[in-house]
Amino acid sequence: MRKQTIDETRRCPKCGRAENQINAGYNRSGTRRCLCKICNYKYTPDGKTQGFPQHGALFHEHFSGGSSFDDYSQETVNLIFSHVNSVRRKSLGGKSPFEVFAFLFDHDATAVLGIRPIPPAEVIQSPKLLR
Ligand SMILES: [Zn+2]
Repeated sequence: MRKQTIDETRRCPKCGRAENQINAGYNRSGTRRCLCKICNYKYTPDGKTQGFPQHGALFHEHFSGGSSFDDYSQETVNLIFSHVNSVRRKSLGGKSPFEVFAFLFDHDATAVLGIRPIPPAEVIQSPKLLR
């Protein structure tokens, strides 16, 4: 019996299984695509996570201490995200998530989300922000 190797980089984002993930060619930008044989979901296994999905990680890096967002008012959460998303990232080609968002959606939808870009010199990424 052939032992199936499980490649952790191929984990279906939909059903969370790492087995029965097969190659499904490449997308237009040449990125490898995978297909989950369990739920038939196609995804990019080593695709970069860009922009907004990173908030959480970045936030926890700087504001760790066991607090959850539930402890903060919406205004405070918006303030935090305003700062976090104003930081330019190497992974975003030197752009901040705000800039990427405006570029992708051709619209400053950030106003709709209740958050706003912070000038780089004024960005605070530590608990000092809340004091
Ligand atoms: Zn799946």
